[in-house]
Amino acid sequence: MASRIFCIANQKGGVGKTTSCVNLAAGLAQVGQRVLLVDLDPQGNATMGSGVDKRTLESTVYDVLLETATVAEARVRAEKGGYDVLGANRELAGAEVELVGLEHRNERLRRALKVAENEYDFVLIDCPPSLSMLTLNGLCSAHGVIVPMQCEYFALEGLTDLVNTIKQVHANLNRDLQLIGLLRVMFDPRITLQTQVSDQLKAHFGDKVFNTVIPRNVRLAEAPSYGLPGVVFDPASKGAQAFVEFAKEMVRREGQRAA
Ligand code: ADP
Ligand code: MG
Repeated sequence: MASRIFCIANQKGGVGKTTSCVNLAAGLAQVGQRVLLVDLDPQGNATMGSGVDKRTLESTVYDVLLETATVAEARVRAEKGGYDVLGANRELAGAEVELVGLEHRNERLRRALKVAENEYDFVLIDCPPSLSMLTLNGLCSAHGVIVPMQCEYFALEGLTDLVNTIKQVHANLNRDLQLIGLLRVMFDPRITLQTQVSDQLKAHFGDKVFNTVIPRNVRLAEAPSYGLPGVVFDPASKGAQAFVEFAKEMVRREGQRAA
């Protein structure tokens, strides 16, 4: 079966995209799925957080976008996480400008991933905090978007822009693209406002809100400095357990979709 491709996107920074991407990848690997993580952020946090040194990579997603390497050539193994990584580093920031003059500039990633579509069950794309050409390449490649968000006062406001972008890409560039779901992250049920915003989200978006809630958990924040997904770093932690639960929820949803 061809892989299911998901963008982890939110144009805000620091909302938990990379943490979600790395831990969902490791969680899916733990439940037996074949996973490729694509780092589309020049910061390379998902690369480093998977235990892959972005400074020593021979080829990255940048080379794949510019067609100087294939996915098969550029990917590396995140040994401990149990998944493959198409890494990124600062070089990727230049792609934004270089892509402008090129053919199929929005579809470069999609075309490159086609070749690997039977090798993975899930491809997860960690997007940069912007609605840029890089993010557009992600959205044009994907079947769906997973939006991590904190249940804070301005959360819904930022969501409108992202939902509109998804609609536009769906209408003009990629008929497959859907909003798969909103993932509540860094959640603290003791904070009344968070519970209120969470309720608002459910009222507004219904079953587009994932059942799994990711709690605020310091072990998830500590894990990247060890080059490990939190799921691997401390499997007993509340954060790790929530991400494994989320991985199972994704597998269930996809199974239901296929059935
Ligand atoms: P983004 O990729 O959207 O910029 P990150 O995943 O890098 O966001 O997360 C931003 C910061 O919040 C990081 O320092 C990360 O370790 C921390 N963080 C993310 N999720 C959690 C969580 N569930 N609990 C505690 N800290 C978290
Ligand atoms: Mg990030």
